[in-house]
Amino acid sequence: MLNILTVLFFFFLMEFVAWFSHKYVMHGFMWFWHESHHKLRKGIFELNDLFGFMFAIPSAWLIILGSDHFDWRFYSGLGIALYGVAYFLVHDVFVHQRVRWLRVARLRYFKAMRQTHHLHHEVHTKEGAEAFGFLFVPRRYFKKYGRG
Ligand SMILES: [Zn+2]
Ligand SMILES: [Zn+2]
Repeated sequence: MLNILTVLFFFFLMEFVAWFSHKYVMHGFMWFWHESHHKLRKGIFELNDLFGFMFAIPSAWLIILGSDHFDWRFYSGLGIALYGVAYFLVHDVFVHQRVRWLRVARLRYFKAMRQTHHLHHEVHTKEGAEAFGFLFVPRRYFKKYGRG
């Protein structure tokens, strides 16, 4: 039971970490990586993808360290990894359609999430963007986009 809570805690913690680093790091001093994600992609990959690897390092490290006894480190690493998978499926596949899959959203929540992220992409510069979070849709955006 505690293990499940650890996984969930780190999963939700990652949404906060993603929001924080998107707002203050990617649209801050690491803009030169993130900029690629606010422009049209030329190939299959973009410089911004490297952030995914950055988050995979602590995750893999914790899983390796914790795998002897399956202690909290294992489950926290697992939580981070699951967030990474969810982020990829929702952000890169569902929203940006890098793979033609999961195109149709039936749940209002996912429609609102997609619209909210498109709102973030309306701004192509380091400054002035809004809606930095991802899986969690703030109430005001859900009210705005959750209808249709
Ligand atoms: Zn951005
Ligand atoms: Zn995006």
